Amino acid sequence: MTSNTDVVVVGGGQSGLAAGYHLRRLGVDHVVLDARTTPGGAWQDGWESLRLFSPADHSSLPGRLMPAQPGETYPTATHVVEYLADYEKRYELPVLRGTGVHAVHRDGDRLRVLADTGEWRARAVVSATGTWSRPFLPAVPGRADFTGRQLHTVDYRDPAEFEGRSVLVVGGGNSGAQIAADLALSGVATTWATRRPPQFLPDEVDGRALFDVATARRRALDAGRADTGGVASLGDIVAVPPVRAARDAGLLAWRPTFTRLTTTGAEWPGGDRTRVDAVVWCTGFRPALSHLAPLGLRGPQGHIATDGTRALGEPRLHLLGYGDWTGAASATLIGVGRPARDAARQIADMPR
Ligand code: FAD
Repeated sequence: MTSNTDVVVVGGGQSGLAAGYHLRRLGVDHVVLDARTTPGGAWQDGWESLRLFSPADHSSLPGRLMPAQPGETYPTATHVVEYLADYEKRYELPVLRGTGVHAVHRDGDRLRVLADTGEWRARAVVSATGTWSRPFLPAVPGRADFTGRQLHTVDYRDPAEFEGRSVLVVGGGNSGAQIAADLALSGVATTWATRRPPQFLPDEVDGRALFDVATARRRALDAGRADTGGVASLGDIVAVPPVRAARDAGLLAWRPTFTRLTTTGAEWPGGDRTRVDAVVWCTGFRPALSHLAPLGLRGPQGHIATDGTRALGEPRLHLLGYGDWTGAASATLIGVGRPARDAARQIADMPR
């Protein structure tokens, strides 16, 4: 059966909800299709010790402040899931769950959205599918030879399952630092491999400062001034309390990355070897865009060229929440509101 609506939002995580909020405010008929069966997007898969980079009052979607979490300055993933579930209920957002979208096609003056449970014809599509479903693993020599367990950030839950084992954590970003800290603080023998020395932000700097930097940069660029630099100019790793504790206890020692994996562990430049039982790849993500393949918009790097959130090759398509290329700080709770508002306004202004 084919349903007609003004806008289909693909993905019901924080980005999809922010789009829904602004579309609703503008009175634009829409539906939010989400592959997951329960609310909260990727936050549902967060590991036990995962904490937001910013306090609750700096982690809010448009319209509704995230309440503080009792006893926690930096809220847990569970708190975020509860907030998102409450958010969509409060604004009566039309989210259809268990509805994975596998293709978006052009269909005359409409876009046709094909999902597991049916299809929709819409004037516009907002793609807000995140990155969590596309974990990235680098092509490292020997990866296929290693006989121990290999997992990605998305599979990690808590250190208990590694008790008495040795673990190699790969990746110098926030996930790598947080997971290495989590393991090391629990007494798991942890080796942390990073391509370059980990860049910790000053302890007093958290997600609030990162957001301010991203905002200042956007303002400068909007005003035609010189680029003030992105958040990478400050460092990579937010020293959330567990990371700080592990670092200060000398447990977060890093090694420049190994040259290859062996059947039993890693071999380092110089030839020495470390035996490990498991490798956790904290090596990032790619945007989940396969449903957009029929539109033929992806460039050589796999990205879709955009002006703000709007796809250059298909003005009825907006991309939201994937990173700075779809709006400054758009992959954060506090940052996605503005690009979501801009996308909703542009869609509302489109000729019918
Ligand atoms: P998601 O949360 O991934 O939601 C996308 C939704 O779309 C999912 O429900 C998914 O099932 C659905 N979907 C995917 N494909 C399809 C499809 N084809 N059809 C239908 N539905 C589909 N952000 C912050 O703001 N503050 C932080 O402190 C913070 N800390 C972080 C720490 C770590 C270690 C990591 C990895 C991320 C952190 N982030 C933080 C970023 C944040 O988790 C993500 O950017 C955020 O989850 C992205 O939200 P989203 O709605 O774009 O995507």
